[in-house]
Amino acid sequence: MDVRMLQRCGLLAPCVSGSSGWCRAGKSAGNIGTRAGPDVLWFLYATDSPPDEQRVRLEYTACTYRGFRPWFACPSCRRRAAVLYMRSGRFRCLRCARVAYASQSEGDIGRSLRKQEKAEARMRRKGIHRATFDRLVSTIVECEERRERAASAFLARM
Ligand SMILES: [Zn+2]
Repeated sequence: MDVRMLQRCGLLAPCVSGSSGWCRAGKSAGNIGTRAGPDVLWFLYATDSPPDEQRVRLEYTACTYRGFRPWFACPSCRRRAAVLYMRSGRFRCLRCARVAYASQSEGDIGRSLRKQEKAEARMRRKGIHRATFDRLVSTIVECEERRERAASAFLARM
């Protein structure tokens, strides 16, 4: 969400509301509404999860030719940001979004590592059925693929 785009569309003026939607694979994946107040902007969004709202403070700095330049104050760290990113259902600046994404993928990676360790421990037991062995092998392969995907998605975003 780019504060300059919102300004160009006149959506930062107090009492103005707007909305836009986005698509994933040709289907509507969610929509977002904004409502501006003095020095504040509310995001009202509906994605896969129940509708939610988030209040973001606006700051203005003087600029030489065009009066005032708007900024978002990041809801997490309060630093000024021109663009906020949606991550784990909240808007944050790029820096905070990266941190949130990293801990989220670390969670995924940790979970799949523990699952794999358990499967490997079971495979080392004696007298294990062939079918169980095959199932454990596919669990391990799946865990490895999941971590691979999490790591490459994370790198792509960095
Ligand atoms: Zn931040």
